This record gives sequence, C-alpha cells and structure tokens, in this order.
Amino acid sequence: MTGDHHLNKSSPGLIGLEAIINFSPLPQFVIDRDHKVIYWNKALEEYSKLKASDILSTDKHWKAFYKSKRPCMVDLLVDEDIGSLSYWFSHNFKKSELVEGAYEAEDYFPHMGDGDKYLHFTASAIKDQSGNVIGGLESFEDITQRKIAENDLQESEEKFRSLVENLNVGVYRNTVDLGGYFIQVNQAFARMFGYESTSEIMETKVIDFFLDPSERITFLEDLKKEGSIIDRELHLKKKDNTPIWVSVSAKAHYNEQGTIEWVDGIIEDINHRKISEEALIKSEERYRSIVENINDGFCIHDFEGNIQDCNENFAMMLGSVPEEIIGTNLDEFSSNTMMLEKNNVTGELKKTGIVEFDADLLKKDGNRCYYNIKSSIVSGKNGDKVHSFLRDVTKRREMEEILHESEIKSQKRLAEIEAIYNSAPIGLCVLDRNLRFVRINDRMAKINGFPPEEHIGKTIQEIVPDLAEQGEIVAKEVFETKKKVMGREFNGITPAKPGVLRTWIEQWYPVKDSSNQIIGINVAVLEITDIKRADKALKKSEEKLRLAIEGADAVMWFWNLEKDVFEWTDRYINIFGTNPDPEMSYDDFLKSVHPEDREKVKNATQRVMQYGEDFKVELRTIWPDRSIHWVYSLGRLFYDFQGKPKEMIGIAIDITPSKLAEQELQETLKQLKRSNAELEQFAYVASHDLQEPLRMITSFLQLLQRRYENQIDSDANEFIQFAVDGAARMQELVNDLLTYSRIGRKTGKFEYVNTEDILKQITFDSRLLIEENNAHINYDNLPLVWADYTQMVQVFQNLISNSIKYNEQENPTINISAEKKVNDWVFKVEDNGIGIDPKHRVHVFKIFQRLHGRDEYDGTGIGLAIVKRIVEQHGGMIWYESKPGEGSIFYFSIPQGDEKYEI
Ligand code: ADP
Repeated sequence: MTGDHHLNKSSPGLIGLEAIINFSPLPQFVIDRDHKVIYWNKALEEYSKLKASDILSTDKHWKAFYKSKRPCMVDLLVDEDIGSLSYWFSHNFKKSELVEGAYEAEDYFPHMGDGDKYLHFTASAIKDQSGNVIGGLESFEDITQRKIAENDLQESEEKFRSLVENLNVGVYRNTVDLGGYFIQVNQAFARMFGYESTSEIMETKVIDFFLDPSERITFLEDLKKEGSIIDRELHLKKKDNTPIWVSVSAKAHYNEQGTIEWVDGIIEDINHRKISEEALIKSEERYRSIVENINDGFCIHDFEGNIQDCNENFAMMLGSVPEEIIGTNLDEFSSNTMMLEKNNVTGELKKTGIVEFDADLLKKDGNRCYYNIKSSIVSGKNGDKVHSFLRDVTKRREMEEILHESEIKSQKRLAEIEAIYNSAPIGLCVLDRNLRFVRINDRMAKINGFPPEEHIGKTIQEIVPDLAEQGEIVAKEVFETKKKVMGREFNGITPAKPGVLRTWIEQWYPVKDSSNQIIGINVAVLEITDIKRADKALKKSEEKLRLAIEGADAVMWFWNLEKDVFEWTDRYINIFGTNPDPEMSYDDFLKSVHPEDREKVKNATQRVMQYGEDFKVELRTIWPDRSIHWVYSLGRLFYDFQGKPKEMIGIAIDITPSKLAEQELQETLKQLKRSNAELEQFAYVASHDLQEPLRMITSFLQLLQRRYENQIDSDANEFIQFAVDGAARMQELVNDLLTYSRIGRKTGKFEYVNTEDILKQITFDSRLLIEENNAHINYDNLPLVWADYTQMVQVFQNLISNSIKYNEQENPTINISAEKKVNDWVFKVEDNGIGIDPKHRVHVFKIFQRLHGRDEYDGTGIGLAIVKRIVEQHGGMIWYESKPGEGSIFYFSIPQGDEKYEI
C-alpha cells in the first residue's frame, strides 16, 4: 500500500472535511485504508460515550456499536467488500439514493451509549482522485423516537385489526347513493350476514340488505341531516333472506365541496336481544294479563312495603285505583300499623323467600276486610322485590268465626252433655267387648263403690263380682241378638254397701261401629232398692191398714162417680145393720142416713166436689130395726189423668159407743161445771160472809184484852192473845180465799198494760219492805201486754214479795225481764234467795200449801196459787227453776197473738 493511497488528515480530499465532521450534529467517524480511526466527532463521543482520544488511531470503532469485534458498514466499503454487506446487515441495507457509492441501513443497538438506540447509518468509501479507496466515512442519525412511534402504531394497528376482525361487530364503509356499494367491510360483517367472504359483499348493493327499502331512505335522510347516526335499530336481512336485527352507528365523510363522499359505520347483531326483548314484552304482556285477570289482588312492593305496582283488583280491595295506590305504603291500609313487621314478613322472606299470613286492611271507606297474603321474593335487575298476592278471606274469616263460635258452642254442649252424663241420677257406663269399663259416670261409680277412674280398664268381674254373672248373661244376649236388653232386674251386693242386697233395673244397649259391628255396650242402671223396699213396706202397711180397719170395725167404701155406684167391704153390716145393695147409688145411701143429718152429708159432699176437700162427717144411720147408730165417715176424692173427679174412697167407723161415752162425759162436765160454780159461790159467800163474824170475834177479843189485861192471870192473857192471833190469821186466810175465789168470778177489764209501770208502782208501794230488807229490784225494757192491770199487779206483787221473803242474803236482788216467744211474752222473775227443794215441786202452786212453818216464814200459802190462777186466766202458763241455796227463777207467759184472751 503506498502512502498516496493512505488517508490521513492531510490527505487532499479531506482538507476542510475535519471541520465539517467535527462540528456536524450528526455522529460521524472516519477511518483510513487500514481501518484506523482518524476522526471521531463530538456528537459521536456523546452518543457512544467513547472518547475520541481512546478510539483515534485504533481500529476499535466497533466498540461503540457491538459487544464483540465485527466489521462496521464502513469497514466493508473501505475493503470494497460489497458482497459481505448482506451477510453482516442481513437485507436491511440499501444503496443510498443521495450519495453515490454510499450504503445505508437501519438497525437496533441495544448497547450503544445509554443503550437502546435505533440508528440510521450511512457509510461511504473515500476515494482519491484516481479513484482509489483511501478511507471511509460513516455517519449516524438517531431514529429511536421514530422507531418507537412506528412500532406503537404498528402494534395498535395490529390490535385494532384483530379486534375488528375478531369482534362480532361489522365495520363497513359504503357510498350514500340509494343503490350504494360497500367500499370496505370486515370479516365480522360478512359472518354476520352469512356471506362467505368480504369480497362477496363488495358485489352486493347496500339496499339489498334492507327488508324494507324505505328504511334505507329514512336512514340516509337522517344521516344527511345529522352527519351521524348512533345506535339505530334496523331490521335487515341476511344472504339467505332471514331477517336480522342490527344496531347501526354511522358517520358521514365529506369532501372539500361539502358533499358526502362515503360513510363509515359499525353494525352490531342485536337479534338475540331483540328476540328476547320481544319475548320479554310478550311475557310481560302475558304476565300483565294474568295479573289483571286473576281474582287475587296483586302488588309489587319493597321490603318496607312501598307499593311499586299493583293490579286493578288490589286497588279495588282498597277501594281505589292503581294510580292512587302506587307510591303508597301497605301499612297505610293496615288497621294494624307495622303489619309487615308484626308478621315478620321481611324476616321470613329473607329466610325462606316466601311467606303467608293473614291481615286485615281498611278500605278507603273505612270498611275492614280480611286478606290472606302470600308474598315471595322476586329478584330483578334492580334488586329484590316482593310480590304479594292478596285473597279476600273476609267471608272465610266470618265463616271461621262462625265455625269457631259453633265449635265453642258444641264444645260447651259436649261439656254439658259430659256434665249431664256425669251427674245423671242414673248410673251410666260403657263396657267394651270384654266387659271392661271404658267410661263411667259418678252415679254408677258410687253404686259400685270405687272412684270412676279406678274402673277404667277393669272388668265387671273385678269391680262388682257379685253382679258379674248376671252381667255376662245379659252381655251374651246383646252380642248374640245385636239388640238392646231392656228393664232387666239385677240383684246383688256391691262393695259400696257390703252386706246390703240391692236391686237395679238395667238397660243394655249395643254400641255399634260404622260397619254395624258391636264394639261395646252402653249400660244404664236405675237403682230400685228403695222402691222395692217401699213396695214391701206398702204391702205391709196395706196389710196393717186392713187389720186396722178390721180391728176398728170400720168399713171401706168406694164410690164410682161415673157410674154412681157404691162398693163396700164386708163389714157393712156392722154399720148399717144389713147387707149392702150391690147397685147402691148415692141417693140410696142417703136414704139410710138419719133425715136430720142428710143435709150435713149433702153439704160435705158438695164441698168435696167443689173444693176438693176431704169428706169428714159424723152422721147417724137408721137400721132396719129402727135403732140409731153413730158413724164417722172419712173420704177422699181421686181424679183421672185428665183431672176429672173419678172416685171417692173412704172409711166408715161405727162410733156409737164413743158417742155415747162422749154424751156421758158432756153430762158429767156440765155437772162438774155446775158444782164448781156452786163451790166457787160457796167459797165466795163463805169467805165474804165469814168476814163479818170474824171481824166481830176479833174486835171483841181485842176489847177483852184491853179491858181485862190486868185483872186476869197471865195464862188467861196468853190464851186471849192466841185467840186474837188465830182470829187475825183466820181473817187473813178468809181474805186470801176471797181474793182467790174472786179471780174466777170477776170479769177482768182487758187493756194494754205497760208492765214497766206496774213495776214502778210496786217498787213505790213496797218501798218500806224493800228498804228494810236492803233489796234491789232490777227491770228494763218490759213490754206492753194485753191484760188485766190489777191482776198483773197482783202477779208481780206476789212474786216479788216471795223473792224478798224467801231470801237470807244481805242484799236480796230480783231481776225482772221479758222475752217474746212466738205468740207469748215470757216474763222471768229471778232472785238470789233460798231456792226450792225439788221434793216440793208438786206443792208449790197448790192453794194453802206451805213449804215452811209459820215460825220460819210468815204466809198463808195462797200467793202462788193466786198467781197461777191469774196467769191461766190470761191463757198463760207458770213454772219455775230452782235449786236449794241457789235462788229461784219464776217464769210466766202472757199470750200476745192476734187472738186476745178475754175472760
Ligand atoms: P206463802 O208465801 O204465803 O207461804 P206462797 O203460795 O206464796 O205461800 O208460797 C208457797 C210456798 O212456796 C212458800 O211457802 C215457800 O216455801 C215457797 N216459795 C214461794 N216463793 C218462793 C221463793 N221465791 N223462794 C223460795 N221459796 C218460795
């Protein structure tokens, strides 16, 4: 290699180049023929981060670009090895169009300088004048930004393309004339309309896609007006003429003249949506028609009860129209606010999704109706809603109430029947086929002698063994004949009354099931033990009566009123002295009665017929031998079931002997009365007439005593004294006797007597006696009585003076009181005196009877006899209670009924 061919800085071709290279904004370097770097400009220093000082005069310029040594483009051109270009730079290089003999390429340099650079580089050989290669220049342009942008674009284009191709969205460009052709369509478009390729579409007119060509006209008109159309739904057709719903958005492209050159559009298949929408509409319509046509009320509401929709029926149930109801709340209509909450509707719905409850709603007019409400959750786009169906159950509710009431009634009835069953006065029980007690009432349980519950499940053999055999016989009969057994008499002993033979009348009824099989026996038991006994007793008493009648020599008669015929028992002859006429009538009978008594008999008979009184008559009969006999007849009237008098039954007794005795008695009584009166008269006269001579004896005796007191001896004086005393006592006795006999004779003057006034008078009159004896007389609240005043004074006077007299106490005390007893006032005179010995009981009230000697207590023994007489004259009684040493109580009664006793 010659020096001429060697490039260096002084090489003529490079003069001036240095400055250009060094100051060029483009990174550049120059090598000589030997590949040694002679220029490495500033821009390249910056780019490659390799200093010129490190690179100049070396052949290490590759370091700026590559990791390991390899030729740069300029190296190949300096060696004029064009053939290797394609090896080292693939086919990425080309001849420069601007510089002759230069080559250019673009490449990526991941390790240059800061790394990651795209460079566009141009290399050319530097030749001398004779055309020999003396060196080479390579310069670079940073195209990193452009490359990134290009890559991004490509990527996004790629993405877009695949999107457009892969999306089921048709993209098209077409012309706007009415015929119109497609300029461009994507695969999706072709697929959408059933074409094999996009090119097939290019040969099809746009209008051919329309089912209704007029739609295309409208579409174009709108497009021209607006410039774009968004989401227009069109009904188009596919290649095979099947219709397809699409949504089209289109935009017009205008030329400079402002007319539309083409239209770009996207088209979306909405067939499915449309069909389902149609189906939805249809189903909604169907649903509407169901909802409107069902008899139920229907409403849609949220969980709070806010009504969002409802049918006519629902609105009608509330007495309104849907428009007014929608937007209100269910609770507004409920008489029970918080209806939903109270029924825990939300809770139940959330748990189970469905709930049913009854509620009452108020109509607009205030009427209340009952509804059965079924609610369920329905999920929708806008969240969960509640669908509620309401059925008017007012009628049902009313029926239920009626039913409920009737149930209560029937329960009550059942309870009543049960109570009747239990408390029935007859024994009732149900036995099963084995004669075990299934049911029993209290009465039956009592008959058997065990509590009702102890019977259940036990057999009659176990409960009432004594009756078991009889029961088994009857049960067998019932099972065999399938018929009831009535009025069967059972006799036996039950544990209720051991040892007592009892009798029952029993009815055994078969209990049958629906197939007419006997499943048990219903037993009703009536105890007739007492009736039996009574029956026996009746028979006995009849026998007794018969004996009595016979014994009393009485005769029984039966008078049949209808036939007017008398029947008599066989002792007729004893009373009538002859045998009875079998056809004897009432008139025949009257003929045998004494004519004077016939009227009496007729009257008595009439009273029986008129007032139903018993017939009681004493009558005389005249016997055939003309003798007269007394008869007492007693009879009673009996009626038939219609209440008509049917028969009179009676007895007749011969009372002639007692009648005679009575007559005798009456005679004696008369005589007695007479002699009594005479006696009284005598007593009166005697006592009255005796007074005068007595007074005379007494006064002469007293005269004798006064005149001769000192002239006669003491004995004679004493005798005279005895005579005076005796005469005085005799006078007392005569006086008392007179008083006593007067009581019977004197006709008393009856009036209302205040017994308290009497006591006042007595205590005043006897004040000396009372004071002397330190006596106390107590009385209070004494009544008014209908009596003879003077005699009553005498009664109290005598009793009080006795009480003081027969008293050894410091302070004799007498308490007087009275008590009303039915028709009597009973007076009580109580003292704390010596009392009366029981042995004297019979003597106390007898006249002149004294229980003590005169030396003990003074008295005549007539006081109590007078009291007794007065009390008895007033219709009362007198008695006493006493124990010796414990005082005495004298009682006497004075009648105070309506009947007042007068003497
Ligand atoms: P007399 O008092 O004049 O003897 P009565 O006829 O008044 O006669 O009484 C009869 C008898 O009954 C009396 O003798 C007296 O023994 C007794 N007697 C009457 N009253 C009482 C009395 N209150 N307490 C005790 N004995 C009485």
